[in-house]
Amino acid sequence: MTAADLFGPIERGRRIVRMHAVDHGLAPSILPGWKTPNGGHFKCRCGHDAGWLFNLSDTEIRRGLPCPNCNEAKND
Ligand SMILES: [Zn+2]
Repeated sequence: MTAADLFGPIERGRRIVRMHAVDHGLAPSILPGWKTPNGGHFKCRCGHDAGWLFNLSDTEIRRGLPCPNCNEAKND
């Protein structure tokens, strides 16, 4: 049995697959060009691990970030 059997067909094309913040915190200092010290450790369900990313908005932390692996086939 695959994940698709459990959760239904995976939507393709329209939805952006987002990595989920498995941990989050603040950078010890804001670097030049940063707007916020917010950071998070982002992982995707595909297994992609983006590591810690900073300079993120609260919305980006909460909603996640587009996965470069899952969204690479997008034509734009
Ligand atoms: Zn992914």
